[in-house]
Amino acid sequence: MMQIFIPLNFLGFVYREMKGALANIEKMFSLLVVKPAVADQSEAPKLQVSEGRIEFEQVRFGYKDNREILCGVSFSVLPCQKVAIVGASGAGKSTLFKLLFRFYDAQEGSIRIDGQDIRTVTQESLRRAIGVVPQDAVLFNQSIKENVRYGRVDATDEDVMAAIQHAHLSNFVEQLPQGMDTLVGERGLKLSGGEKQRVAIARALLKKPPIMIFDEATSSLDSRSERSIVASLQEIAREQTTLVIAHRLSTVVDADTILVMDQGKVVEQGSHSQLLEQEGHYAMLWQMQQQERTDDVEVAMP
Ligand code: ATP
Repeated sequence: MMQIFIPLNFLGFVYREMKGALANIEKMFSLLVVKPAVADQSEAPKLQVSEGRIEFEQVRFGYKDNREILCGVSFSVLPCQKVAIVGASGAGKSTLFKLLFRFYDAQEGSIRIDGQDIRTVTQESLRRAIGVVPQDAVLFNQSIKENVRYGRVDATDEDVMAAIQHAHLSNFVEQLPQGMDTLVGERGLKLSGGEKQRVAIARALLKKPPIMIFDEATSSLDSRSERSIVASLQEIAREQTTLVIAHRLSTVVDADTILVMDQGKVVEQGSHSQLLEQEGHYAMLWQMQQQERTDDVEVAMP
């Protein structure tokens, strides 16, 4: 009996270990493991990014159930601009990112980067050009330094330090007993949501792709973390074309353009002040969030 039990037990252990490791890898590349619904054209060339201009032109898209999720979306992002996408849950914000990453092809219309239709270039070159800061970054139970280094595995310690600084993490790291060598805990549990997202930003800064997509965490952040995130986003946007899905409008008031989405359409676009003047959808969202903040402060007061 023991002769069977021991190998079976060992196999169980190996299985659990492998499953754990795979789960981590899957989460880390969660955007990349979606079964590809698209294929490269034969002899497709690589994407050549010279400036990082993005254009969506009359993009229509639905998932399998024939429900139209994007109903003719058009917008342009100029090189090194920061564009924020806001709107209610289910409006289609993440779907825009999935199409830009080419997990799916639009049923109508086109998406171009520096004039090249993304359907005509290799997926590998497209995804290499785009850095992603997901809502819930996957961290491994290693040091902060090693977690940041996943952005570019051959980066020197100096490069990693610079990325940590640009992600506005240095003050936090300096307070830790072992600085950059401090372990972050299983799945980064020893870090707050804002700190985890800044580690992900540092990773992305180290990779330095010409285009960056940032999915702002929905979890509540204290105002200091929020300010640090805004500052690190400004750092990214200085040299890279940046698209941000924003849940807190206060983090994107400085965006060059804000796209307001509702039910698969861009219903308003402009700068924060232009949109407030329009007194439309955005102005209403802004007022609601300001009111929530005031309520939170009142509740927090003794
Ligand atoms: P949120 O702010 O809640 O993340 P969102 O604006 O990013 O929302 P999307 O995630 O783009 O919205 O989803 C738009 C619509 O598409 C939703 O109704 C959603 O249920 C649907 N949807 C998203 N992914 C899929 C999928 N893989 N298959 C079918 N429907 C999907």
